[in-house]
This record gives sequence, C-alpha cells and structure tokens, in this order.
Amino acid sequence: MKISFKLKLIFSYVFVILISFGFIAFFLDRNLEESSLQDIQSSLVAQANLIENQVNPESLKKEDVVSLDNLVKSLGLKINCRITIVNKTGKVLADSEKSLLEVPEMENHLSRPEINTALSGATGIDTRYSPTLKIDMLYVALPLKDKNETLGILRLALPLENVQNTLFGIRKIVTLGMIIALGFAFILGSIVASRAIKPINSMIQISRKFSEGDFSRRIIQVSKDEIGELAATLNKMAQDIEDKIKEIKTQNQKLAAILNSMIEGVIVSDKIGHILSVNPTIEKIFAVSNAEVKGKLFLEAVRNNDISEVINTVLRTGEALSREISLVLPVRRTFQINAAPIFDNDAVIGSLVVIHDITEIRKLETIRSDFVANVSHELKTPLTSIKGFVETLLGGALNDKENNRKFLKIIQDHAERLNKLVDDLLSLSHLESSEIRLEREEFSLREQLEKVLEGFKSQLKKKNIEVKNELAQKFLIKADKHRIEQVLINLIDNAIKFNREEGYIRIYSEDLNSKIKIIIEDSGIGIPEKDIPRIFERFYRVDKARSRELGGTGLGLSIVKHIVELHTGLVSVESTEGLGSKFFFTLPKS
Ligand code: ADP
Repeated sequence: MKISFKLKLIFSYVFVILISFGFIAFFLDRNLEESSLQDIQSSLVAQANLIENQVNPESLKKEDVVSLDNLVKSLGLKINCRITIVNKTGKVLADSEKSLLEVPEMENHLSRPEINTALSGATGIDTRYSPTLKIDMLYVALPLKDKNETLGILRLALPLENVQNTLFGIRKIVTLGMIIALGFAFILGSIVASRAIKPINSMIQISRKFSEGDFSRRIIQVSKDEIGELAATLNKMAQDIEDKIKEIKTQNQKLAAILNSMIEGVIVSDKIGHILSVNPTIEKIFAVSNAEVKGKLFLEAVRNNDISEVINTVLRTGEALSREISLVLPVRRTFQINAAPIFDNDAVIGSLVVIHDITEIRKLETIRSDFVANVSHELKTPLTSIKGFVETLLGGALNDKENNRKFLKIIQDHAERLNKLVDDLLSLSHLESSEIRLEREEFSLREQLEKVLEGFKSQLKKKNIEVKNELAQKFLIKADKHRIEQVLINLIDNAIKFNREEGYIRIYSEDLNSKIKIIIEDSGIGIPEKDIPRIFERFYRVDKARSRELGGTGLGLSIVKHIVELHTGLVSVESTEGLGSKFFFTLPKS
C-alpha cells in the first residue's frame, strides 16, 4: 500500500502526541493514585488518632459494648467511614456499620493484617478487597492503650471507591484531552503537511513536464529552506537541459544543412550496418528515400554489393577505407568512396561513408589524355613527313631537278598544315579559357557571308559548286563579328570540302521566337548516323585520311561549337549519307 507523504507527516504528528500523552497519562495516573492513596491514608490515620482519644479505656476494659457502639456509630456518621473496635483477642466489640445484635456474630479479626500490626504496637495499614462490600477497602488500625497496656484495637475502614472514582474522572479528562489533542494534532498536521507538500506537489508536476520535454516552465521558489534549494536546483537543471537541447538542435540543423547541400553522397550507419541516415545526394543517386532505407542494411535498401562491403569492412576493421567503384545502372557512373569508422571511446559505433561522383573528372581525364595523344599524333604526321623530305633533299635529292621542287612543295604543304593546326589549337584554347570576352556589334550577316564566300571563290570554282545565299539583305545580328565569321568559314569550308562536284550550298535562316536559326545546307557526302553525335568532338573525323588530304585538322566543328555556345546559341546537324548535310546554329536576336 502506498502511503502518501502527507499522510506520513500527519501520522507522525499524531504518533508524537499519542506517545507524549501516553507517557504523561501513565505517570500522572500512577502518581495520582499513589498520592491520593497516601492522602487518604494520612487523613484516616489522623482521624484514627483523634478517635483513639475519645474511646474510654474503662468502657474497653469492661467491654461496654453499648457505649462503644454509641461512640462508633456517632463518630462513623460524622467522619463518614466505618469504625470498628476490637479487643486484644480479636473479638469485635463495636462496629459502626453493624447493629449491636450483629456484632457478636462477626468473625474474629485477629487474622486481619492491620489488626495484627496494631497489636504489636504500630499503626496497621492495609488495602484489600472486601468480599462483604465487594469493593477495595483501606483499613487503618491503632492500638487503644491505657498506660502502655494495649486494651484493644481501633480500626477505621474507608471504601476506596472514591479514590477510584476520582482517578476514573481524571482518566476520563486525560483521555478526552488526548482525543482533543489528537484531533488538533491531526488538523494541525494536515495544515502543516499541506503547506509542506504544496511546493513538493508543484515540483512533481513541473518535473513531469520536464520529463515530457517541456522546459518552458519553472518552479516558483517560495521558501529559502531545503525545498527552496531543491526547486532552485531543478530550475537550474531544466535551464541547463534546455540550453543543451537548443545547442544540439542548432548543431543538428547545421549538420542537416551541410548534409543537404553537399554534392557528395553521405551514408551514416550504426555498428551493425543499419542505415541511420542518407543525404539527398544518395537519394538521387540510388533513387531511394531516407525514410525507406532507414534502419535497413545497405544491401537490403540498395542492391549494391561494393558499398555494402565497404561498410562491413570499415565496421569490422575499424580503419578508414577508400575505393573507386563503377555503377552501371541507371547510367554508367564512377564513384570515389571514402568510408571511415565512428568511434566512441575506442569502440566502433558506426560508419560514415562519403560518395563522390567522379564520372566527370574521369571523363575529363580521358578527354585530356585523348587530346594530348591526338595533338601529338596530329603534330607527328606532318613533322615526320617534313623530316623525311628534308633528309631526302639533303641526301642528294636537292640536285634532282625534276623532284626537288616537288619535295619542297610537300614540305611547304606540311608546314602549312602544322601552322593551321597550331592556329586552330590556339583559337580553341583561347575559346576555352575563362578570360574570353565577346565583342558584340550589329552587322549584316548576309554581307559577312558574302565576304567569306569571296575567300572561297577559287575552291568553289574548282568544284563548280553553286552557292545560294538566301539571307535577307537587311538581316542584322548582334554578335562578335570576327568570331561569327570564323563559324561561317569553318562551315562553308566543310560544305565545300565534303561536297560533290557541281553540288550546291544553300545558306538561309529561320525565325524562332527569341532566336534566329542559320542553316548551311550542302549536297555533299553526308555523315553516317553513328558519327553524328561525335562530329563536334575535337579531332573527330569520319574519314581521317580524307580529312587530312583535304587539309582538315578535325578541330573546325569544335571551334564552331565553342563560338556558338559562347553566344548562348546551339549548334547541330542533320545529315543523310550520300545526300548532303544541314548544319545549323542559333543566335539570340539582337
Ligand atoms: P575537318 O578539319 O576534318 O573538317 P571538322 O571538325 O570541321 O574537321 O569536321 C569534322 C568531321 O566532320 C570531318 O572530318 C568530316 O568527316 C565531318 N564533316 C564536317 N562537315 C561535313 C559536311 N558538310 N559534310 C560531310 N561531312 C562533314
């Protein structure tokens, strides 16, 4: 059974009162009983001494029962107690409670202890139960002497009923007093306990709120005692916890913001390998949601053995790990995985995996190394030729009148090729550099095209190609004139190079909403479908030998693409092998 603190407090009050009253009542009772008995005894002895003098020794000697009877009866009435006169043999001579006739029938009193003591000359006192009267009686006996001769015994008997009545009355008052005191103790205890319990109850209530996570309330400190101190300590504790929670919340928010904005994928697992959280990048890479993977093993959540293995190894060995993996689905991507264990007092309690998508880096690395290889190769071919023909000339061909000019012409062609290659590489690298600035100006595209075509006059004539410049006379665009000229040169050059004899080239435009589209159409050899997606890559050529033969570097379309994109335009091609190609690019309207 649960007894409340309040009840315990009240009971302790009541208990203290009970014990104190008990002690008081016990000792008071005993003391009173003894002292009132003592008082009665002393007054009875005093009365006996007084009466003793009134007993005529002559009457005693003569055993004059009539005078003795008169005496005891009159005195007995006066002092309201039983008086008995016994001779020294124990025979009763007179008794205030018995008539003259009854006295001789009374039994001998010699055996009575008080009589016995009185006969020896002392005052006999005894208390005993009187079977005749059925009450406790106090007996006091004195020797009745005449010149040192004991003639008889005077005995006074008093019922102790009065003493007991007095004691009973006192006991009644004490008991009543105790009940009243207990009642008061209970009421007082209740008030004191209520006052004492009130702050404790409010502390319990507010502590309950604390345990539910509500730290907004504080306990009101009313007193400066221990309870007040406890309240202050609880308030301080709540404040500290609230501050700590706020701090943790802010830290968590910061952490969440970092994790959410990270381009790297982050996976946090517990010591068994169950996922605790993943960031949005992981959700995107593996097409999962944080909620659905939480609590699962990585292999259950995402069917990827490599990452699961990395997590397990890190958890098992407690050492950081770095690995590169490739994912084939949904698209082929390369990831750099860095995994590290999370420690708590030297024990591994989880793992942190950071996944970095390095597909683009790898792609760029491949492009760069391909580019270097391509450039080297492109440079090597003309250089080898130049070196070979120079050696031939030096080896004697210089005097070979028929061929020496031919050889020198070849050397010149290769040197020109080298020059063109270096020019193209330089303009490409310039276009790719971040410092490039376009110098936009308004000019007529038709006029610009006519100027370009002028430069290709002899080549056009050689192949007998018809050019249809269908651009409007007043067709003005706002762009970097010099670079757009470069675009036109490269596209027209290709349209001539890859055209058939007596073919045509048609240049026209289409008006798109915010842009204009310029189309260069030719009736050339066209481009196989499989090559179309790669046609704008550096050094990409459908037919390498043919392109070289025609003096191409394989960089022309790359340069076109760069320039158009710098103008925020798009470049593309439509082509049918054997029929011709349509190259087009868009430019924003001025
Ligand atoms: P190149 O210096 O070889 O012309 P480009 O980058 O200008 O280099 O062109 C790349 C390749 O695209 C060419 O080698 C050729 O195979 C193809 N090509 C470009 N323009 C045309 C075209 N008008 N008709 C057919 N093929 C073309």
